[in-house]
Amino acid sequence: MRLRCRENLAAVEARIAEACRRAGRSVGEVTLIGVTKYAGADVARMLVEGGCRELAESRPQQLWDKAAALADLAPRWHLVGHLQRNKIRRTLPVVSLLHTLDSLRLLAAIEAEAATAGGPCDVLVEVNLTADPQRSGVSEADVPALVAAAAAAAHVRLRGLMGMASHPDSAAADSRRDFARLREIRDRLARDMPAAMLAELSMGMSGDFEEAILEGSTMVRIGSALFEGLR
Ligand SMILES: *Cc1c(COP(=O)(O)O)cnc(C)c1O
Repeated sequence: MRLRCRENLAAVEARIAEACRRAGRSVGEVTLIGVTKYAGADVARMLVEGGCRELAESRPQQLWDKAAALADLAPRWHLVGHLQRNKIRRTLPVVSLLHTLDSLRLLAAIEAEAATAGGPCDVLVEVNLTADPQRSGVSEADVPALVAAAAAAAHVRLRGLMGMASHPDSAAADSRRDFARLREIRDRLARDMPAAMLAELSMGMSGDFEEAILEGSTMVRIGSALFEGLR
């Protein structure tokens, strides 16, 4: 099992390196985040021991549990799913980067908690790249207001944007177009709000991370490709 885990990690890293080469980018510009929601704490542990030091969960409860189980290895934890306001208090101390800031209400609640807890909270604004109200993230029209508010918050550190392709399993061309759009939204915001920190683009999953890297992704969130044969 340990060998298989290392092989999967090496294969994903090789694909990231190849996509970076094609994009004319350096491998150091793209961070691999292992999404452990399909794996138990034992397999997540192997992944960290194999060299993947950035891990993510999509549910706060799972994040707390795995962070506790892997506390001795101290990986950096990312939350890539929705954060309910009543879970902020327990989540902030364990999370290094929240990828899913999606409302002014959530921002205000995080700001209040981070102010009393002392430490700043690093966030990405999640953009809904589809018009589908079922999908998470803030609509494109509401992105500038949320970005401006996050950039102005004293105890929140805005780092960039996160988004998902409309059809993660469909043709590569579609995801590439969605990723290009997220980059364009970021570039426009960076021009209009030079003070906002928007260097990070969290985009790309197992099925489409190469396209995301070609469009400027700085963080790929990979689950299933790392856990093939391990479930
Ligand atoms: C599950 C999940 C991933 C990883 O998905 P895979 O297709 O398994 O790589 C990435 N991002 C988010 C937001 C997720 O929920």
